[in-house]
Amino acid sequence: MPLQTFSGNNRFYYKLMAYHYSDKTLPTVIVIGGGFAGLEFVKKLNNTPFRVILIDKRNYHTFQPLLYQVASAGLSADSIGFPYRKKIGPFPNIAFRMAEVERIDPAEKQVITSVGTMQYDHLVIATGTTTNYFGNANLEKWGMPLKTISDALNMRSDILQEFEKSIVTETLEDKESSLNFVIVGGGPTGVELAGALAEIKRNVLPSDYTEIDRALMKVVLIEAADRLLSAMRPASSKAAQKYLEKLGVEVKLNTIVKDYDGHKEELLLADGSILKSDNIIWTAGVKGKNIPGLPESAYGRGGRYLIHRTNAIQDVTDIYALGDIALVQGDTQFPNGHPQ
Ligand SMILES: Cc1cc2nc3c(=O)[nH]c(=O)nc-3n(C[C@H](O)[C@H](O)[C@H](O)COP(=O)(O)OP(=O)(O)OC[C@H]3O[C@@H](n4cnc5c(N)ncnc54)[C@H](O)[C@@H]3O)c2cc1C
Repeated sequence: MPLQTFSGNNRFYYKLMAYHYSDKTLPTVIVIGGGFAGLEFVKKLNNTPFRVILIDKRNYHTFQPLLYQVASAGLSADSIGFPYRKKIGPFPNIAFRMAEVERIDPAEKQVITSVGTMQYDHLVIATGTTTNYFGNANLEKWGMPLKTISDALNMRSDILQEFEKSIVTETLEDKESSLNFVIVGGGPTGVELAGALAEIKRNVLPSDYTEIDRALMKVVLIEAADRLLSAMRPASSKAAQKYLEKLGVEVKLNTIVKDYDGHKEELLLADGSILKSDNIIWTAGVKGKNIPGLPESAYGRGGRYLIHRTNAIQDVTDIYALGDIALVQGDTQFPNGHPQ
């Protein structure tokens, strides 16, 4: 049965029947990626006449909107990571495989993974996005991203280590470099993180780090556009900027970062000026986390898959994309595809 013709009207009938993953006569649906998109989709396939395999390289779902809380030590990592087996374990027709998908072979209808090759009848790609450094190797090497729980834990560790370092370093310049947190990218992640760091300065330093001169800690938020949160309404941008500035965040709009020298701890801006900082947090962009194997014509802007309104990827058969990796075509309201 093609996925397109399976509608909610059939759901009641299918509920009366028990389908099992071990039944190899059922069509196999492989879903790559258990983020918001992949996981919700898989849950909808519970007790339907499909044999479903959810593949993710991690064995837990990450609640990305709260990563900044883990990074700023407000939440523990296990508050935002949820094991897939707890979520889908009870569903008899759905199996989970922890594996990294390395390649897709559309001609053979196979996915090649770190734990072997799997055959599909229908393939759903929901691999989300990854941090985009726009080809700058220095920023990729030294900049801190915030896309995964590991990123958040690394960032948290780095922030706390810099606080400790600032106490024992001798020169004022080194202290300032340790306590200067520069966030590049004024989208939702950058804005949330800037606010959280400013709150640390305001609430945590005076109680837990009495040896640090609070005035030395700076939070700078850099944005290339002329406003923060450029995908939202201008009124929201204004309100966010006002709120952050009230918290003590220095917001720099119309500012482009050119490069970073991690040895000298210097961030070079397009106007030639330099910011001294040992902490560059990079939230300036994402690109599609696509998997090799599909024809060039299947990809659109930002490495995302071009899909039709049924979520079928252009120029391939029985392969669909969901979530951030999908670039919807044919919606006149969004001629460049839906925003991520
Ligand atoms: C810090 C942060 C804050 C955010 N805050 C908000 C917010 O407040 N509100 C909001 O609406 N959105 C927010 N977002 C965006 C939101 O989290 C994404 O839109 C959403 O997670 C996209 O879901 P997805 O399922 O497409 O991809 P993802 O959630 O990224 O999931 C992709 C999954 O695919 C897996 N995967 C990738 N490649 C492979 C491979 N080759 N093999 C196996 N598995 C693979 C990954 O492990 C991951 O589990 C935020 C994002 C971030 C990073």
